[in-house]
Amino acid sequence: MQTHEIRRRFLDHFVRAGHTEVGSASLILADPNLLFVNAGMVQFVPYFLGQQTPPYATATSVQKCVRTLDIENVGITTRHNTFFQMAGNFSFGDYFKREAIKLAWTLLTDSVEDGGYGFDPERLWVTVYLDDDEAERMWLELGVPTDRIQRRGMADNYWSMGIPGPCGPCSEIYYDRGPEYGVEGGPEADEDRYIEIWNLVFMQNERGAGIGKDNFEILGPLPKQNIDTGMGVERVAFLLQGVDNVYETDLMRPIIDKAQELTGRSYGVEHTDDVRFRVIADHARTAAMLIADGVNPGNDGRGYVLRRLLRRIVRSARLLGAEKPVMAELIKVVTDLMAPSYPELATDFSRIETVSVGEETAFLKTLNTGETLFDNAATAVKSKGGKQITGSDAFALHDTYGFPIDLTLEMAAEAGLSVDEDGFRSLMAEQRKRAKDDAQARKHAHADLTVYKELVDRGATEFTGFDELTSEATVLA
Ligand code: ATP
Ligand code: MG
Ligand code: MG
Ligand code: MG
Repeated sequence: MQTHEIRRRFLDHFVRAGHTEVGSASLILADPNLLFVNAGMVQFVPYFLGQQTPPYATATSVQKCVRTLDIENVGITTRHNTFFQMAGNFSFGDYFKREAIKLAWTLLTDSVEDGGYGFDPERLWVTVYLDDDEAERMWLELGVPTDRIQRRGMADNYWSMGIPGPCGPCSEIYYDRGPEYGVEGGPEADEDRYIEIWNLVFMQNERGAGIGKDNFEILGPLPKQNIDTGMGVERVAFLLQGVDNVYETDLMRPIIDKAQELTGRSYGVEHTDDVRFRVIADHARTAAMLIADGVNPGNDGRGYVLRRLLRRIVRSARLLGAEKPVMAELIKVVTDLMAPSYPELATDFSRIETVSVGEETAFLKTLNTGETLFDNAATAVKSKGGKQITGSDAFALHDTYGFPIDLTLEMAAEAGLSVDEDGFRSLMAEQRKRAKDDAQARKHAHADLTVYKELVDRGATEFTGFDELTSEATVLA
């Protein structure tokens, strides 16, 4: 089943059950605390918090999501994209647990002729929160046997926004790919063999004081109970299409094919090459979607994420042997694949192309000069019998040539060297302090962008640091 069809079937299933179909929100919302929209529920937060009255009691959507937190997983696990589509159904004080469980189960297991996805129910596992006997009973009633229901603790199966407000237990649905993909024992034992498809959140309590995902007080029941669910469209495509991972599904594999053409290397031969192909496919799509929603490459915040994605594509393609620019062709393929669901890619094509190609051109220049500096530093280290690039070389690469530290780390690893990361960090800290003193001295009166500045500085040393800003706690568990 093609990805576009998977989307359509999801929405149709829930519209048939009385839900209002709502379009995806932009990846970029006004809220500066959220880097990118990373779950279907984000656009409905004011309804869940009771700050606004929803114009419908139940809704369904397929939301564009970006999770930078997953960037390190891309190409390595079978299931993580930086951009993905989260299909969801939402109840604002209308139906609750029983109905949500039943609606999810029927869509997954109904035959294809009956409008479902036709998953073999024997391969599905579910998890429930530790004390959620009620949810377990409902799964049992639908015919899921006890030995395919697992209980998990707060970190995995309890949702909140990280602040006082609604919270509640989750129940997740997993698909068993079979013994050739890992060990027995359900999702608790192996999340590569058992692939998470769908998360159902039952907002039923009030969150009290406490910190983080799994260390807070759970207070009494909410006056109105809500449902928030998220199903990964790419994951369903991966499992239904009988391919090995999300990157080989119908909307991504053609990007890999194009990358093979552009680089002259083949997919499916060498593990390290394959990871690079998958990174290219994933990042090209994310970059196009971000530019479509108005992000431009830059040195901080969202712009820096985009820059990092684009640069990673360019570098991966070079490592696969590309000698010429690749971006224009990749963006073209992404557009052909995604425009049927996201027409903004087609209407805005020339802008998206210009932005991504512009970044590629600039980075290729950076790479050319930076690579020489890196090679000189590496040669100097090796000739002295050393094994480590100095912190000051890493800093110079960053400061002068715009090399993010992870690029330096990657290149060093390829050359069989390490990098003095502590040295690098302390030079970064010094520079940051200088910048701060400077800024204070100038007391410039712009809006408070320091939060982004700090993130970028941190992001340059550890990319996933950005997600401290997105606070994954605000999304599904
Ligand atoms: P995982 O444990 O596999 O990282 P998750 O628990 O972080 O997933 P949720 O926050 O529960 O995911 O999101 C709801 C659904 O969205 C998941 O069940 C999954 O199907 C899908 N999903 C989450 N992250 C990704 C991703 N990076 N790429 C593709 N699909 C995703
Ligand atoms: Mg995750
Ligand atoms: Mg999970
Ligand atoms: Mg989950």
